[in-house]
Parts: sequence; C-alpha cells; structure tokens
Amino acid sequence: MAKQDAAAKRQCIHCGKYVPVRSTQCMYCKESLPDLNVLRATAGIPTEGGPKIRRGLLYMLLAGVVQYYAGGYSGFTLPVQIDPVVFQYLVPGLFLLGLGLVLYGFYLKMKG
Ligand SMILES: [Zn+2]
Repeated sequence: MAKQDAAAKRQCIHCGKYVPVRSTQCMYCKESLPDLNVLRATAGIPTEGGPKIRRGLLYMLLAGVVQYYAGGYSGFTLPVQIDPVVFQYLVPGLFLLGLGLVLYGFYLKMKG
C-alpha cells in the first residue's frame, strides 16, 4: 500500500474548511473528525479509480456496439456508407482506450 499524499486535504464536516487528510481534529473549529479509513471502509466512498473504470467499460461497450452494427450482424444497414477502414482502426482503438482506462482505474484503486 502506497503512502498517502501528505498534501492531500479533506473538508471538515462541521465548518467546511480544508484540513490535512490525516487530521482527526479540525484545526479551525476544533471539532473531532471521523477517521477517513473507517469512513471509506463503511460508506464505500469511491476512490479516484471508480469513474475511470466505469468510463473505460463504457468505451469497450461502445466499441462492441459499433462492431456489431459495422459488421452487419444485426441485419441493420447504416444509412450512410462508411469506409470499413474507419472501423478497422476505430473499433480496436476505442476498445484499447477503454481497456487502458479500466486498467488505469484499477491501478488507482490499488494505489489509493
Ligand atoms: Zn471544522
């Protein structure tokens, strides 16, 4: 587990001011703050990786959909004629982009 960024800030739940992420007491209003690790474990607060994984999965899904229509598997013909070369590069590109985002998201999750 990587060391938490010392410069990271969290918002005080009592006065809304930003305090160091590790502090258990607000330096402005002196109210005690709940432990962030406990909060994360109980409330399931998403880490930075979550949205990236979701977006990556969306791209991969989109690539699949484009492939589905472009390949003519659906029996649906596109209203406009698109050069198949576009799909040849677009679909794998989109898929890899999504895969990369998912992997990066997981990396952030592990690190976080
Ligand atoms: Zn405060």
